[in-house]
Amino acid sequence: MRALTVAEPGRLELQQRPDLLATGELALIAPRVVGVCGTDLDIIDGTIDPAFVSYPLVLGHEFAGTLLSPTAELAAGTRVVVEGIVPCGVCAECLRGDTNRCAVYDEFGFIRDGAAADLLQAPPHLIHALSENVSWESAALVEPAAVVWRALTRARPQAGARVLVVGDGTVALLAGILVRQFKPAQVVMLGARSDQAELATRFGIDLFTTDADAAGSGYDLVVEAAGAAAATAAALAAPTRGGVVLLLGYPGAEKVGLPVDDLVNGDITIIGSFAYTRAAWHEVVELLNSGALDLTGLVTHRFALSSFEDAVATLRHSSGARGKILLDL
Ligand SMILES: [Zn+2]
Ligand SMILES: [Zn+2]
Repeated sequence: MRALTVAEPGRLELQQRPDLLATGELALIAPRVVGVCGTDLDIIDGTIDPAFVSYPLVLGHEFAGTLLSPTAELAAGTRVVVEGIVPCGVCAECLRGDTNRCAVYDEFGFIRDGAAADLLQAPPHLIHALSENVSWESAALVEPAAVVWRALTRARPQAGARVLVVGDGTVALLAGILVRQFKPAQVVMLGARSDQAELATRFGIDLFTTDADAAGSGYDLVVEAAGAAAATAAALAAPTRGGVVLLLGYPGAEKVGLPVDDLVNGDITIIGSFAYTRAAWHEVVELLNSGALDLTGLVTHRFALSSFEDAVATLRHSSGARGKILLDL
């Protein structure tokens, strides 16, 4: 089997490996679509926090595929998604349902081998069946959608809320799409690239702008999904009194000044949200399977596994409209 491997930081190569098999504890899956994201670049470059990664590793934490070995609940041939985080199930965090904070960090494409390969082994209890109506594109987006959904369920905007999303990448677009489940009155996106306007409005964003003055302030919920210090500062300046600022992006080493007087006077809540819980994953799969959510069309670039270098180059510096970038196996 082929496996897209980060042998060590800075060295990404398509390796040939012996075929994986189903075992007593692990089911066998043929990955079909594998999304790539900025975190994959951090893994390739070795700029990710070393506590979250174990080299060498096969890339791929956003994926869907076909079950090759039957499980107690699912037949071979079922189209499936697999939760990326593998929680231990017995630590205090897991027992509370906070599986995103499991004391034993383990995740496909970070600690254990990921899905950018012809075969993948996965624990059966983390495998979810997809309905026929769910496209491969939607399925590939379950992982980032679960990250966004878990964050939104902590913020829980009221119906009729005004929402600002800062950022214009896949996570920002997913935030603008998923927040609709809470019936907001208006969703505005403050982006950095005007090329993203068409994609944003096609997915229901009411107003896309790259001008912070045009976006204005007074929002009930502000979602920071750009992962840049300037964007985070813009987000912190935009809530109404009593509003919530939800931080999803990673500005890295860049520090952001806090406008403390305004935050205190404004009675503002700031929420940082990490990854997803098992509950959030279940809920996103249910939204897709029920037809309440369809992310088809959010994929703008597709590459064969053998063209992985083009996929990475596109992720690093493509111009033009860009949604999710997929490896299509
Ligand atoms: Zn990702
Ligand atoms: Zn745990």
